[in-house]
Amino acid sequence: MDCTALLDKIRVQSRTLGFTGFGIAKAELDADQAHLQDWLAKGQHGQMDYMARHGDMRARPELLQPGTLSVISVRMDYGTDPEQAWATLAASDKAYVARYALGRDYHKLMRQRLKQLAQFIESEIGRFGYRVLVDSAPSLERALARNAGLGWIGKHTCLIDKDEGSWFFLGEIYTDLELPGTTLTPQGHCGTCTRCIDICPTGAIVAPNRLDARRCISYLTIEHQGSIPEEFRTAIGNRIFGCDDCQLVCPWNKFAKIHAEPDFAARNRLDEAGLLELFAWTEDEFLQRTEGSAIRRTGYINWLRNLAVALGNAEPTPEHLAALRDKCSHDHPVVREHAQWALQQLETKLRT
Ligand code: SF4
Ligand code: SF4
Repeated sequence: MDCTALLDKIRVQSRTLGFTGFGIAKAELDADQAHLQDWLAKGQHGQMDYMARHGDMRARPELLQPGTLSVISVRMDYGTDPEQAWATLAASDKAYVARYALGRDYHKLMRQRLKQLAQFIESEIGRFGYRVLVDSAPSLERALARNAGLGWIGKHTCLIDKDEGSWFFLGEIYTDLELPGTTLTPQGHCGTCTRCIDICPTGAIVAPNRLDARRCISYLTIEHQGSIPEEFRTAIGNRIFGCDDCQLVCPWNKFAKIHAEPDFAARNRLDEAGLLELFAWTEDEFLQRTEGSAIRRTGYINWLRNLAVALGNAEPTPEHLAALRDKCSHDHPVVREHAQWALQQLETKLRT
């Protein structure tokens, strides 16, 4: 079949499956590999040891999946109302959850849809070798998406599309098909803007395109195990799972679309829930309510830890004080320590 006609058909099918962007990536990632190695060497990945594993596989698709000649890269929107996000961030008694984690875990949905896309290609050309990836294996997905023409990597290190902003998930199909790569890599359009760097509550964007994960609230509330360094606790505010500030402030997101995917709709009212309500969940409730959600991966102890920090940044109401006092005798030392810290914060506020 004529390659252009095939690509047109795949593009149309990808749209039907809910993907809002599609491209073919060149797997030339030498500069990105050097950037990754430097980031790792400086320890800026924190406890994310998995980033350091797998050697060159991340930057060389053919090592991860032998025979890979082309990478199909797609994106799927998860944009929501930014006004609601800002309002929740401003309400210190409410919990802020990163917009990508409000609904069903995107990994499963994206993987299913990518498999459907691969099966569609098979129905057109017959069997071929492929592997579907959604954060499931070491890959430099943003660099691949950039090479596929889906956008540029902004100073905050997320991918941005000029017409659709940055609120989207990425996924890939590594394939042994020799498809024509996108010839034009989009130019960056950050220009002299530094809004994301300026707003970052913890100074985690230490230079353009350079994120020190150890300072990033997203890392601290999701990936980091154990005690959260005290120097970051006040800056965390009411963000209990992830952080979106650098994307919320990005001017290109005025072009972002609100998603229409029912699976991404907020569950358990997580877009407006109060800190006290979530802090009162038992472990069973946590496991039951976060089933099929990305939040599950942080675990119940970190969930309580994060909520304790957020309560320490809230108003010293009798209800907040009572809830924290209760958790000061929790079985787990991390929960106890964060509840004690938070209680001290509120008691200090009461005295001043
Ligand atoms: S996610 Fe939040 S803490 Fe992390 S870089 Fe962006 S603004 Fe900073
Ligand atoms: S906020 Fe400005 S500097 Fe940051 S990613 Fe967006 S355009 Fe680039």
